[in-house]
Amino acid sequence: DRVGNPYADARGYVDPEWKAQAEAEPGGHRVSGNPTAVWLDRIAAIDGTATKRGLRAHLDAALAQGAGYAQFVIYNLPGRDCSALASNGELGVDDLPRYQTEYIDPIAAIQGDPKYRDLRIVNIVEIDSLPNLVTNTNVATCATMKQNGGYVQGIGYALRKLGAIPNAYNYLDAAHHGWIGWDSNFGPSADAMLEAARASGDVRTVHGFITNTANYSALTEPYFTVTTTVNGTSVRQSRWIDWNNYVDELSFAQAFRRKLVSIGFDPGIGMLIDTSRNGWGGPARPTAASTSTDVGTFVDQSRVDRRIHAGNWCNQDGAGLGERPRAAPAPDIDAYVWVKPPGESDGSSTLIPNDEGKGFDRMCDPTYQGNERNGHNPTGALSGAPISGAWFPAQFRQLMANAYPPL
Ligand code: BGC
Repeated sequence: DRVGNPYADARGYVDPEWKAQAEAEPGGHRVSGNPTAVWLDRIAAIDGTATKRGLRAHLDAALAQGAGYAQFVIYNLPGRDCSALASNGELGVDDLPRYQTEYIDPIAAIQGDPKYRDLRIVNIVEIDSLPNLVTNTNVATCATMKQNGGYVQGIGYALRKLGAIPNAYNYLDAAHHGWIGWDSNFGPSADAMLEAARASGDVRTVHGFITNTANYSALTEPYFTVTTTVNGTSVRQSRWIDWNNYVDELSFAQAFRRKLVSIGFDPGIGMLIDTSRNGWGGPARPTAASTSTDVGTFVDQSRVDRRIHAGNWCNQDGAGLGERPRAAPAPDIDAYVWVKPPGESDGSSTLIPNDEGKGFDRMCDPTYQGNERNGHNPTGALSGAPISGAWFPAQFRQLMANAYPPL
């Protein structure tokens, strides 16, 4: 029934709504044919709204396109996005029962319709959740979600229900190197993922993992690796790397996969990397390794990831589209994918009242000087952004201008 790599030899579903938005921007047709994921980011997204089609309509459209696979993001945990505010959701910390019956059950019922049996349905499961239980329990909502089991039980339930559909593929979110690349977070995050997978009843409900979802971490740093030294000093000692064990997403994803298998996940698991916005091309991209003998200067002049700090995650100024979606691009990687639809905001730059439960996170405010999670640095966020998920034309245009590989 299931194939090893659902992306292999298959064309991805192109979301007509994203395509139309991309094509409304100058030059957008150059990228609008790429598959992007559909985010089921609230209960109402399942049936659809006046402006957005629902799950069944997307699946029907995928069949009509003759697509081989379609990608959905399962994103509605109780107490969602506990360490940030921009993507807080509709469910409160104690709403696990509603998550199960009003959100996961209807999705499973629709995806399980035999009409869709020949389509490979990829579910990206609950981004930015489990690592928060490891690294951010100093934030009250994260402590609550760890203590009440809402994330682990919610994810376990999602994996079980969606994993029972023979043509559905669960990819669990595995954060990114700039979050869990340090040894102190790497193993404990893998353990949290194993706990959630075991809560599903069978770790084989997890087909694979995805890294860098909706983030900006560079796929590869071409001018140094984690073992590079400068004048006898490891790049790990630079301010930018800050003792991380990984300097880019590809090396992290491959190593994290080995870790996951070593603790009990199926040896057949594959990795996805969200490359929608980690291209870092354009005029600011370095074209050679720095010749500086100072390690900090060397890294800052050599790195293609131009962020102020790797903990910055909101609407990053200077980012570009990354690798176009494709299957089996590197060992152990099932695909490069565009899960965050490029051009959709990560959060508003100023407070914008809304009826989606979304808060205002100052990490999206270009005037904010940061917090302990980004080393108290400026946020590097673009100004003028709408709430998370809303179309942000200026960002889309910059992403195209700074695409790498270039368009
Ligand atoms: C938002 C979602 C949105 C998704 C994709 C998230 O940050 O919270 O509402 O669907 O991004 O743009």
